[in-house]
Order: sequence, then structure tokens, then C-alpha cells
Amino acid sequence: MTRFDLNRKKGLIIGIANQHSIAWGCARAARALGAELALTYLNDKARPHVEPLAAELGAALFCRCDVAVEAEVEQVFSEIEKHWGRLDFLIHSIAWAPLADLRGRLIDSSREGFLQAMDISCHSLMRLCKRAEPLLTEGSGVIAMSYLGAERVVKNYNLMGPVKAALESAVRYLAFELGPRNIRVNAISAGPIATRAAGGLTGFDRLLEQSQALAPLTRKLGIDDVGGSAAFLLLEAAAAITGEVIHVDCGGHACGPGG
Ligand code: NAD
Repeated sequence: MTRFDLNRKKGLIIGIANQHSIAWGCARAARALGAELALTYLNDKARPHVEPLAAELGAALFCRCDVAVEAEVEQVFSEIEKHWGRLDFLIHSIAWAPLADLRGRLIDSSREGFLQAMDISCHSLMRLCKRAEPLLTEGSGVIAMSYLGAERVVKNYNLMGPVKAALESAVRYLAFELGPRNIRVNAISAGPIATRAAGGLTGFDRLLEQSQALAPLTRKLGIDDVGGSAAFLLLEAAAAITGEVIHVDCGGHACGPGG
């Protein structure tokens, strides 16, 4: 193993729904650098879409995991304990909000909808880190996925804005709490990519078009762009990066209209 590979590293990646998922880009990149993977699927409906992808990468573990179901999270970690006895990285690439709340104004969001969005998209990171903590090795890494709507108002991002802001803040606090054990926690703020989750946002196609046109690199962002950056953050070469939110968006965060 060198500072630039993930040979013998064992990682859990949560968030593959299909071949368009950002988590799939992360899984491919980590595997290409030598990592062994534990991958999960949400439920019976999702399984047929995820299972062939897990097989394609030769995933060592393939488990069902709805982060809202404590017993399923527990099962994933018992499998990891049994098969590996340790964990070198964890990628949290999940988000969810009830459609009615996601598509309405923030001011109109229901208490229940907001709490559910916060639970699945943000607090689940704390729960996963807590369960993973005893297994996480010295030098290990945790990554969560965020979006620019956490920092600025992005039309139609609605309640996910404050939810992602909380996620980014949580990343900094988790980095502080786990740092003394040399466990690093970072977020990637990805630019818009056409995935299933993104399809839930009103006007997403227009956002995608505008982001591409305004970004300095003037090209489409892909899941391999995000995957490559996630894999980089897990390398020993990135050993001093923690508590960071890295924009992987072709530079879009740096430009306003007319930029
Ligand atoms: P996706 O639909 O491919 O992935 C979302 C995943 O969340 C799915 O695999 C789904 O099964 C999972 N999920 C939802 N509820 C869950 C639960 N209760 N338990 C476990 N898993 C659950 O979409 P994506 O765009 O790849 O989303 C991945 C992450 O990237 C999300 O955090 C999203 O907010 C973030 N992100 C996406 C974009 C984008 O434009 N696509 C931009 C920035 C950030």
C-alpha cells in the first residue's frame, strides 16, 4: 500500500440506487484503487438494481440497509465485524424528504416532513459514525454528500437547504470529535447530476443546464468526477484534510450569474 492507493482498505458505501448514483461513482473509484467494499440496498424494490452492480465490483458484503431501521443498520455492522473486524472508510451518500415537503416552500414544510428529511439525510450520519466508531481504524475516513444549496439559496432546493447546512456543520463537529483517533470526516459538495434523488426537485433539468453553462469548466459533471474526489479524500495522501467541504462541481460554486 502507498499513499496513493486503497489496497487492503475496507469500506462501507451506503447510497447506491442504480448506475446513476453518486455512490456508484464512489464505489467504482474506491475499487479501482484496490479497496474491498461492503455495499447496501434500501429495500426489496431496490435490490435488483443494486445487486448486479455489487457483483460487478466483487463486493465482499452486500446487505439490506434502510438507515431508519435500527436493526438493519445493526445487521450491516455485525456482518462487517464478522467478516472484516474493522472498517477503513464509510461513505454516506443518501438523502430523502417527502415529495410534498421537498416541492413546497420551506416556510410551508410540515414538522413531520422536515424531521424525516433531517433524520434520513443528516442524523443518520451521526448514527452510522457512532456504530462504526469502534471499528474505524487509525487513518480512516468518513465522507458525506452535500450541495451548494447548504450555503446559498438555490431556487427549488427548499427544505434540503437547511438539512444540508446541518449536515455540513455535523461533518465539522464529527471531524472534531473523531480527530483525536485520527479518523477524518469530510463532505463533498457535488454539482448537479441527473440521478433519481435529483429528479425529485422541481426544475432540476433547468438547474443542470444553468450550472453547466455557468461553471468555469463548462462541461457536464459526472459521478466519476465525484467518485474520484471521494477516493482521493480517503487516501493517505489526504491525511491532513478533515472537517472540510470540498466543492466538486466544475467550479460552479465560484460563479454567480454572468460569471
Ligand atoms: P440517488 O437517488 O442515486 O441516491 C440517493 C440514495 O439515498 C439512494 O440510494 C436511496 O436508496 C438512498 N436512501 C434514501 N433513503 C434512505 C434510507 N432511509 N436508508 C438508506 N438509504 C436511503 O441520488 P444521488 O444524487 O446519488 O444522491 C446521493 C447523495 O448526493 C445525496 O446525499 C444527495 O443529496 C447528494 N447530492 C446529489 C446531487 C445531485 O445533483 N444528484 C448534488 C449534490 C449532492
